Amino acid sequence: MADLRALCVYCGSSEGVDERHVAAASALGKAAAERGVRIVFGGGRVGLMGVMADAALTAGGAVTGIIPRHLMALEVGHEAIDDLRIVATMHERKMLMCDISDAFCILPGGFDTLDETFEIVTWRQLQLHDKPVVLVNLDGFWDPLVSLIEHQAAAGYIRPAHLKLFKVVDSIEAVFDTVAAAPQPTLGPAAVDHLA
Ligand code: AMP
Repeated sequence: MADLRALCVYCGSSEGVDERHVAAASALGKAAAERGVRIVFGGGRVGLMGVMADAALTAGGAVTGIIPRHLMALEVGHEAIDDLRIVATMHERKMLMCDISDAFCILPGGFDTLDETFEIVTWRQLQLHDKPVVLVNLDGFWDPLVSLIEHQAAAGYIRPAHLKLFKVVDSIEAVFDTVAAAPQPTLGPAAVDHLA
């Protein structure tokens, strides 16, 4: 059973057009708060990420945002969160998000959500960490991505064993069950070292 003290959430800086995604982002923030799980996210107050962070804060949860200085300068940083870390670069941000989290989950999003998802899966493939990664396939939103990855595997570019680097679930509740059922990670920095 993997410990879950800090859950990193990758999701859209836009709200999209599907109200169910907004509701799910809110439900995830609330569910984490109720379980005493800290949210780690990109630190913005916009889009699904802002909805998710607000819901966690409203439910009394702990939230860490990690935002590069240039995005802060664009005034999209979430000022209300208890732990807002301003870093120099996107690379520094993504590394810190990885280091201080016990597990990762992905809600609907755009380019940057895909970038974060592929990087965290790639780092796992390269054995830089072995923390659980959960793709939340709300209402089939990520079906085209799952199809693409299966296509890449069928074409011989992704090893079949590497399809297990992430799990696909279809609900917010399943995120917590899936992380709890995963083996305790042994590679990479432990989240607790950075949050203490
Ligand atoms: P996207 O999927 O392109 O909307 O980008 C969302 C992801 O990128 C989030 O998980 C954040 O980590 C990061 N991100 C993109 N835009 C922002 C922003 N304005 N403020 C903070 N983080 C952002």
